[in-house]
Amino acid sequence: TADIETHTYDVVIIGAGGAGLRAAIEARVSGKKTAIISKSLFGKAHTVMAEGGCAAAMGNANSNDNWMVHFGDTMRGGKFLNNWRMAELHAKEAPDRVWELETYGALFDRTADGRISQRNFGGHSYPRLAHVGDRTGLELIRTLQQKIVSLQQEDFRNTGDYEANIKVYDETTIVDLLKDGDKISGAVAYQRESGRHLLFEAPAIVMATGGIGKSYKVTSNSWEYTGDGHALALRAGASLINMEFLQFHPTGMVWPPSVKGILVTESVRGDGGILTNSEGKRFMFDYIADVFKDLYATTPEEGDRWYTDPDNNRRPPELLPRDEVARAINSEVKAGRGTPHGGVYLTVAGRTEVGLTTEAILKKLPSMHHQFKELADVDITKEAMEVGPTCHYVMGGIEVDPDTGAASVPGLFAAGECSGGMHGSNRLGGNSLSDLLVFGKRAGAGAAEYVDKLGKDRPVVSDAAVKEARDRSVAPFGDGGQEGAENPYTIHQELQQSMNDLVGIIRKAEEVEEAQGKIDELRERAKHMVVEGHRQFNPGWHLALDLRNMLLVSECVAKAALIRTESRGGHTREDHPVMNAEWRHKLLVCNIKDDGSVDVQEKEQIPLREDLLDLFEMSELKKYFTEAELAGRNS
Ligand code: FAD
Repeated sequence: TADIETHTYDVVIIGAGGAGLRAAIEARVSGKKTAIISKSLFGKAHTVMAEGGCAAAMGNANSNDNWMVHFGDTMRGGKFLNNWRMAELHAKEAPDRVWELETYGALFDRTADGRISQRNFGGHSYPRLAHVGDRTGLELIRTLQQKIVSLQQEDFRNTGDYEANIKVYDETTIVDLLKDGDKISGAVAYQRESGRHLLFEAPAIVMATGGIGKSYKVTSNSWEYTGDGHALALRAGASLINMEFLQFHPTGMVWPPSVKGILVTESVRGDGGILTNSEGKRFMFDYIADVFKDLYATTPEEGDRWYTDPDNNRRPPELLPRDEVARAINSEVKAGRGTPHGGVYLTVAGRTEVGLTTEAILKKLPSMHHQFKELADVDITKEAMEVGPTCHYVMGGIEVDPDTGAASVPGLFAAGECSGGMHGSNRLGGNSLSDLLVFGKRAGAGAAEYVDKLGKDRPVVSDAAVKEARDRSVAPFGDGGQEGAENPYTIHQELQQSMNDLVGIIRKAEEVEEAQGKIDELRERAKHMVVEGHRQFNPGWHLALDLRNMLLVSECVAKAALIRTESRGGHTREDHPVMNAEWRHKLLVCNIKDDGSVDVQEKEQIPLREDLLDLFEMSELKKYFTEAELAGRNS
């Protein structure tokens, strides 16, 4: 392939968020020549936006905490649909990954006696989130980047070339993965600045591309979360699981319209913020589901006491898992008890009884104070915030081997938000940053080991496949002025509106079917998309390429959402409102068919290991498992 700039690596990491950077570090320290590819500027991944913190059962704030409690909370949060092996590895390894970050130079907030401080978050039994104010993701990214720079300095000392063993290609977007037979052989990219294509030859690729939120109109996600990794992997023959489960964060900004969807961190509630409706009622007490009844306070007084005396009181229901809180807010607004702009109130002002003085608010939630002041002209130390659900996180993703991050395609690995399984039907806040570190490291190691095993027998890139990928990616330029030409922005808007309205927080069969029809229509229309201008910095062109991914991923979400006839975590069916134990042990697996459409099949989950089942009371298991699954256990 003489006419395309070509780079050869052992391991190519697609994505420079927490998962990608941690994977890259691991691949490089395992002796592999590693590239990091990032669609956005280096440092501007989703991870940088993470506010609340990174969950790890270090037991600093409450010595009762340990990996088993964290594991239990994670499984409970995911309504026991989680891949239990991932949840186990995550709970066991998260503390070490946080400590390791400090060895790279991170500095988390401290307790009075100098240990890493931990804060409360929804669904976590104890204060568990290691944090840096409400800017934790920034510290995480900064530190991982610093580690990469230090590895490059080491390489410079040894070879005279900073980029000898680890190089970053930012503003570079992967458009297709390449295979030799059934094995990964490389990937084709374009660069934003030049619009030129690049070829990466590599036997191992780690997907770390993050989420899919840009398929929805109201989202906390930024422009690059178009499900590229999900779609690239699917098209390369890998399977996706759990795509029906999307997390609608309960608290996004609802006003002004230009910022609708921007996240209001859960720390606001973790630190003592309360939710009220237009009648001034703390309504969450009316929404404690049966499965959570014994775990949450039943009066505001008890809930408030919990902040200072957690051992003798139960937590307030504002800290229920996110799916529960988001549905409750949705119901309040629908019942006509919403705020003027269609949300509910979230208040930290005046909550001095739980320690939220003005000074404490400014210290604990500086970004939230700044965000509301700048964007909505609201001073959160004096006034309530107006908030409502926003599409935030995708639980579904590439199906991987828990220990190595290997996808079903040899040479393909995945970690972080683009992988599936770890969080089951609903992710607990704080469990993503820890997921990135734990599974980023594992996927980097998995990829390195795979390359070692391949030895000299490396897959080869085919010229024809490169040409096909390139031709496909420039097709939207067409020859201009065609009749019936479609505009990518219009198609995107229509897709976002349909997904929001028809496959959103509450779903029903007719609407999901309508969405499927709309996706089919948009896919046809997308074949006639035409973009204008040059290839350099051309956002219309980029959107046209992103849409190919968004449409495919949306098809997965809609198809899986129609098949799962129950309500669980981030999938609520108005026409099937009950959680059904028969569905708990089933996964919906998406694959691509020869005609490019998505096929969804049911698959049995691997049963939870006995010693892990023993961590739960029988009375709790009965709420989630079928009788047959629990047969033979002591009640
Ligand atoms: P990302 O950080 O999303 O990075 C993806 C990378 O892939 C980017 O570099 C992107 O440019 C690149 N990429 C995408 N497509 C391509 C392509 N085609 N080619 C090349 N590169 C590509 N979680 C917590 O645990 N705690 C929190 O407090 C928290 N707060 C959050 C606050 C906000 C506002 C948001 C939006 C999320 C928050 N989350 C939090 C969730 C968490 O931040 C994300 O789930 C996590 O950062 C995802 O990390 P990642 O490494 O998987 O991907």
